[in-house]
Amino acid sequence: EVSSVETASEENKLPELYPVGLLHGTYIVCENELGIYLIDQHAAKERINYEKMSYVLSHPSDNTISPLVSMIIELPRNEYLIIKDNMEILDKLNISLEEFGQSSFRVVSHPTWFTNGREEDIVRGIFEMIINKGKDFSLEKFNDNLAKMVSCKMSIKANTFIDKASMERLINDLRGCKNPYNCPHGRPAIIHFSIYELEKMFKRSM
Ligand code: ZN
Ligand code: ZN
Repeated sequence: EVSSVETASEENKLPELYPVGLLHGTYIVCENELGIYLIDQHAAKERINYEKMSYVLSHPSDNTISPLVSMIIELPRNEYLIIKDNMEILDKLNISLEEFGQSSFRVVSHPTWFTNGREEDIVRGIFEMIINKGKDFSLEKFNDNLAKMVSCKMSIKANTFIDKASMERLINDLRGCKNPYNCPHGRPAIIHFSIYELEKMFKRSM
């Protein structure tokens, strides 16, 4: 089986981390012989989702599904017209729309990678990206922003209490990432306090 994401180079790889617990439903506390680590669970999940999504978007497939329950998206008239003018972008993304009334679209079908339960959210996010896109449009840049947007929407929110097994799964998935140390927006996913730094802070070292 081929792995879906490129893995990190040796020096960029995460060390073994043993989760100890969760702070404020937000930071996973880990330890190993090098010290302690705080993982921002939202940022970490975003990184994992982003690398998956980047792969999916750069290997387009024609697999689409139609919403079981009719999905109608109403927009302000001016936004509706912008979307109508940019149908070719939606075509490229395999999102098929049908005009529905004065300023609404019905989503006829969308790619299978849309997260269950977040479909409308994702379509609205894509509309927003199209409405705010600059003059020099590139599909590559658009897809990268799309991967970032979707990875955030798919990621666990702060104040979510996950169990030890989920923490271990998250750490493992993060270890499979090319760049495990940052979220796709560039914020840190992990902060490390070395034994030396801890001893210095507690004035234990000479
Ligand atoms: Zn986010
Ligand atoms: Zn982020």
